[in-house]
Amino acid sequence: MASERQINVGGVLIGGGAPVAVQTMTKTETADLQSTMDQIRGVADAGADLVRVAVPREKDVEALKTIVTQSPIPVIADIHFNHTLALKALDAGAHCVRLNPGNIGGPDKVAQVVDRARQLGTPLRIGVNSGSLPKHLHELERSQPVEALVSAAVEFVELMERLEFDNFKVSIKSTNVPNTIASNRLLSERIPYPLHLGITEAGTKWSGSLKSAVGLGTLLADGVGDTIRISLSTFHAEEEVKVAWEILKALHLRQRGPVLIACPTCGRLQFDMDTVVADIERRLERYPEPIEVAVLGCPVNGIGEASHADFGITGAKNEGLVFSRGKALRKVPQEQLVDTLFAEIDKYVASKQIDVDAGEAEAGAQWLERIESENAGELTPERLAAMEAQAADDDGPDRIRLDEELSPVAGRRFNRA
Ligand code: SF4
Repeated sequence: MASERQINVGGVLIGGGAPVAVQTMTKTETADLQSTMDQIRGVADAGADLVRVAVPREKDVEALKTIVTQSPIPVIADIHFNHTLALKALDAGAHCVRLNPGNIGGPDKVAQVVDRARQLGTPLRIGVNSGSLPKHLHELERSQPVEALVSAAVEFVELMERLEFDNFKVSIKSTNVPNTIASNRLLSERIPYPLHLGITEAGTKWSGSLKSAVGLGTLLADGVGDTIRISLSTFHAEEEVKVAWEILKALHLRQRGPVLIACPTCGRLQFDMDTVVADIERRLERYPEPIEVAVLGCPVNGIGEASHADFGITGAKNEGLVFSRGKALRKVPQEQLVDTLFAEIDKYVASKQIDVDAGEAEAGAQWLERIESENAGELTPERLAAMEAQAADDDGPDRIRLDEELSPVAGRRFNRA
């Protein structure tokens, strides 16, 4: 379950019930200050709470001193193999240092880094990767890879505890989705510290997003995980942030910007959905408000399952309807549908009220009613779903129903301002 302990990374709380923090990593050479800062500002705009930068060379430490002062979000220094760089990154003001205690040169060098982190009050992220487990766990790794990963992480945690240091989070990284899920579940039961979740080298934007959604989404839905990073093979780090947010929004763990819902389309489709949905998705990116916008490919079911949406559109032949919260707002020629939708959204954003013109709304409602009655006999996907729901309801009072309050993520929702 969610970690008991909490750490503070430059003002962002991780673990202990804090909202799941979104992080990403810059893809630039860190020492290229201009490019690195451009990317950090880009990921911060996209919604990253934290950013990690690679620090493999002395010149990167030099750049880090400036980056930590200019970055709009806390900066984590990523260090491998070199404890001297870890010490220098701490001195440079990194808000957190990530290292693998197994490859930093032995327990004495880990202790030096821990001492410096303790003096400065800076948290660490300690992590293990499936590709670099300590030698004594290799045999276990062959027969029980999950147990081997968890054992390695627990050994590092015990090392921290022997050093009387508890200001850290832990990550287990694997390219294998089932092993990532199983090992993090097991680790969350064995240690109280915050967990950083990620799928190593997940892949391209398409496959990597899906793998991450499956792996991280499964864990987050169980309440496991306190900060996430989506690793995608793209230079555009903000894409990782967008995917992370979609996962958190899908689980209702956090809220940021609009939510777009769209019907899957079928043979009743009455307009060019692909283009329209893509256009709406792009235009919605500039809105920070958590409005829900629906796009229905035809009006034969009425507004149906999109009736809870703040705004929505549907179209038939040459006409279309803009609706809001289950009610028609206005009927317009189809080519004006998207612009009218955004005009209504803009009015709402400015006034926090839905602007209803009674005459226009009535004309829209009549248009919708007419199309619904003309197609009353159609077995649409929505009507089939409604019939299934009705049949399930008819099963009687013993039927097990979903209870929102029992959701493992219920207590963690929407609590970051
Ligand atoms: S019937 Fe449903 S799925 Fe098919 S186009 Fe209409 S709204 Fe979309």
